[in-house]
Amino acid sequence: IYASVAAKKKRTHCSPNKHIEVPLCNSGNITSLLNEDNLFLCYQPKIEIATGKLIGFEVLSRLCIQGDGFIYPDKFIPLVEDAGLNCQLTKLVLSQALSQWHLFESLKDYRLSINISASDLLSDEFINYVIDKHLANADIKLMLELTESQQTINEDRSLQAIAKFIINDIPISLDDFGKSYSTLDRLDSIPFDEIKIDKDFVSDLDKNHQHQAIVESIIALAQKLNVKVVAEGVETLSIQNHLLKMGCHSAQGYFISPPIEGRYLMSWINSYNH
Ligand code: C2E
Ligand code: CA
Ligand code: CA
Ligand code: CA
Repeated sequence: IYASVAAKKKRTHCSPNKHIEVPLCNSGNITSLLNEDNLFLCYQPKIEIATGKLIGFEVLSRLCIQGDGFIYPDKFIPLVEDAGLNCQLTKLVLSQALSQWHLFESLKDYRLSINISASDLLSDEFINYVIDKHLANADIKLMLELTESQQTINEDRSLQAIAKFIINDIPISLDDFGKSYSTLDRLDSIPFDEIKIDKDFVSDLDKNHQHQAIVESIIALAQKLNVKVVAEGVETLSIQNHLLKMGCHSAQGYFISPPIEGRYLMSWINSYNH
């Protein structure tokens, strides 16, 4: 196995969007792997569909192990959660992304969205950390993308945490919408700023009539509740045009751009805006 992984690595150009299997990430060493030096952030643009205007970026994490390549969130997030390290991850992501946003004044035009875990909401220390960072970086527009799991979002403590963020002007995006039904009854009681339709319903939208019907109802529901809808997983112009016709506000996906490394971010923005 190791020999074939090594051979595969030799053939594969090391890119943060290419999933290279790194055999060295497991529950035994995740604690030592998760640190500032290994954390590698990419930024995926979000645009307003009707105008093409660039509105923000979602931060997507990778672990970059020197000489070994990249470890992807699908592999390391479950290990991070099991080890109880997700608040630590979010703090590292938040502070590194804020540093990136301070590098160029023009980045402050764009909203910076960070993924948080539902279990983060159970830590008062974490909530205060985020609010302090937000207050200390008032010139940067933050957003939190929350993927809720059935149990956690219904807990009073989670609802209080969400309310605290919203009161402090940190908007919340309800991530992976459509994958779970539990949020429907919460939509009228929590003023989410955005609903993000999961890519499972979007990436074959132009061919799958069932998915078209689901996306249409999510958009209609969101419009009634006055919440913006963003579709992730927009891979083609045809899908983007379908979404435009359906009245979807914004889009994210490979058709616009894959997640971009920090060092290429400004040049990507400059060429997009020209
Ligand atoms: P997500 O929040 O639903 O993010 C969207 C995922 O879809 C990302 O995968 C992104 O690279 C990928 N994607 C973007 N555009 C397209 C497209 O057009 N087609 C397809 N098929 N996929 C697309 P990634 O980067 O592997 O992240 C996977 C998940 O890991 C994320 O799902 C998010 O839930 C989680 N994640 C990533 N970074 C963080 C983090 O810093 N903290 C936490 N708590 N979770 C994170
Ligand atoms: Ca997300
Ligand atoms: Ca998610
Ligand atoms: Ca998703």
